[in-house]
Amino acid sequence: MYPFSFTKASDTRDALDAGRRGGRYIAGGTTLVDLMRETVERPETLVDITALPLREVTVTERGGLRIGALVRMGEAAAHSKVRALYPVISEALELSASAQLRNMATIGGNIMQRTRCTYFRDVSAACNKREPGSGCAALDGFNRSHAILGTSDACVAAHPSDVAVAFAALHASVHLLGPDGGRTVAFADFLLRPGSTPNREQTIKQGELITGVEIPAHPRPLRSGYLKVRDRQSYEFALTSAAVALHIRGGVIREAKVAAGGVGTVPWKLPAVERHLIGERPSKALFAEAAAYAAEGARPLAHNRFKAELLKRTVERQLRVVGGTR
Ligand code: SF4
Repeated sequence: MYPFSFTKASDTRDALDAGRRGGRYIAGGTTLVDLMRETVERPETLVDITALPLREVTVTERGGLRIGALVRMGEAAAHSKVRALYPVISEALELSASAQLRNMATIGGNIMQRTRCTYFRDVSAACNKREPGSGCAALDGFNRSHAILGTSDACVAAHPSDVAVAFAALHASVHLLGPDGGRTVAFADFLLRPGSTPNREQTIKQGELITGVEIPAHPRPLRSGYLKVRDRQSYEFALTSAAVALHIRGGVIREAKVAAGGVGTVPWKLPAVERHLIGERPSKALFAEAAAYAAEGARPLAHNRFKAELLKRTVERQLRVVGGTR
């Protein structure tokens, strides 16, 4: 560890002032403290924001859901409205981490978490995300867990969040508050693909605070769920995952929301799969045909070629679970 200063914000204005002066916000600290211990991150000032009033889960006027940035993962997963309206969110959170972590980590921190690429956390390895221009040790290294979609020559790290996959599928948006006021960013635009600047991971600006994530209302009934495939049954990151939400009325799929995790540099939306489903009657054959589009554009690496096929099977299986054709 190294010296840093620590301040506790008493209210939102206090936090924004400290953020404007260069402070880093911290709440659960489940990612940032680890990275500081490993000297991957070296903030000079930490601003504890846990006293801010961002702990509510509310149903919006239009029937959507707003989850405050400081709601703990465990609280969000267990919340009656989340479970009733969007089980895919609850399931993604419950499959995310150990109970201890879910009781500490917040929703805002979850979508800000950094990659689990081992080279990123090894300060002796080349890593463009940690040190721009230094190279990428994963390209010729052990890259079994890395991304096959949205990669660049500069970085191939997979995005680690499960609930972010559900948020992407459901067309969520992120509410931000900065010194100049508030703004709302579509979730699909909030997380950035690496391109030539993998060190930039979110659209958030210095001093901006995440105040919450909003999920818009979707037509009812909406069936949804999350499937995560991993090397072991608990406390492991996804090799592949699928978030699926279907609005089926009169025996026909009217709306389909599908996104994948473990395979993209950001949560990976699957519009070709969605298009293949809309207007059709649920069947095993339909779901197999739709899932065949899941790995379109994939660029596998030396050790993760299996992910393209595994992704198709993951999506097909979860379509069958949610679509009721198991
Ligand atoms: Fe760093 Fe990205 Fe390469 Fe991992 S994949 S070593 S995070 S540049």
